[in-house]
Amino acid sequence: MKVGFIGLGTMGRPMAGHIIDGGHQLVVFDKVAPPSELAAKGATSCSSSREVAENADVVIVMVPNTPDVEAVLFAENGVAEGLSAGKIVIDMSSISPIATKEFAAKIVALGCDYLDAPVSGGEIGAKAGSLSIMVGGSPGSFDRIKPLLDLMGKNITLVGGVGDGQTAKVANQIIVALTIEAVGEALLFASKAGADPARVREALMGGFASSRILEVHGERMIKRTFDPGFRIDLHQKDLNLALEGARQLKMALPNTASCQQLFSVCAAQGGSTWDHSAMVRALELMANAEIGQKH
Ligand code: NAD
Repeated sequence: MKVGFIGLGTMGRPMAGHIIDGGHQLVVFDKVAPPSELAAKGATSCSSSREVAENADVVIVMVPNTPDVEAVLFAENGVAEGLSAGKIVIDMSSISPIATKEFAAKIVALGCDYLDAPVSGGEIGAKAGSLSIMVGGSPGSFDRIKPLLDLMGKNITLVGGVGDGQTAKVANQIIVALTIEAVGEALLFASKAGADPARVREALMGGFASSRILEVHGERMIKRTFDPGFRIDLHQKDLNLALEGARQLKMALPNTASCQQLFSVCAAQGGSTWDHSAMVRALELMANAEIGQKH
């Protein structure tokens, strides 16, 4: 296939690499210079999102936030200006499910199709080609693009219609934030009570409280490795989508709201670009204790 890829940051760069490794023709654009490793593999650099859309049958977008996707698609020299009937746009960024439906309607009006396909699994999963991919869109288009998704991910699910992939991703981010908070509270409690947090984590990994987050983020909390990974500002963006959506649905997400506040404590300490496991630092401030500190 002729594939276009827009947004070559932490996630987009390795994902685009898998597409070209899979034998597809690749055209790319990023608003900062695209990584040289993609050019070395044979990717062609374009000077705008429009040029990508003109030269590809399937256009993949992987940028930070809802306004960024809107700009890529509909700003001057955007994807919409370069599309012709029959092409497919796949947005793999994590953005608003509501805006997704609006974007999809405008793309469909051009005779094209639109799928939302946000991912979970982080930079590690992007590099390994083992992402979980949550898709919203028509079954026919899903079948057409599935071979491309197979190059980037392992657990690939058509959740439902347009927007449902993004809704699943918001649900994912609620679980991740609340679990980081739970792991942080537990390890901080154990540490302040005088137990070795590394041994506690090891003991819990075999039992009912075990989780990928206890494994990966728990280790980060103990080893104090807070370089991202997944940045707090991106997780705050996702929890905003959850909280705004919940307000429209007239429902409460009380613990999502408190996790958002804990992330804001980190932001106030200059931590917007820390890894999201650093939420534990907000808990440590309140406990006047640090995991691993002798008390
Ligand atoms: P990033 O900030 O590292 O990369 C985004 C890239 O998009 C940058 O290179 C930027 O220059 C480019 N970009 C932004 N606006 C653009 C525009 N108008 N035109 C062209 N290029 C533009 O972000 P990331 O970590 O790769 O995350 C991308 C998306 O994936 C986000 O929605 C994020 O929430 C989601 N996500 C990230 C992770 C992770 O662990 N980093 C995990 C799962 C999902």
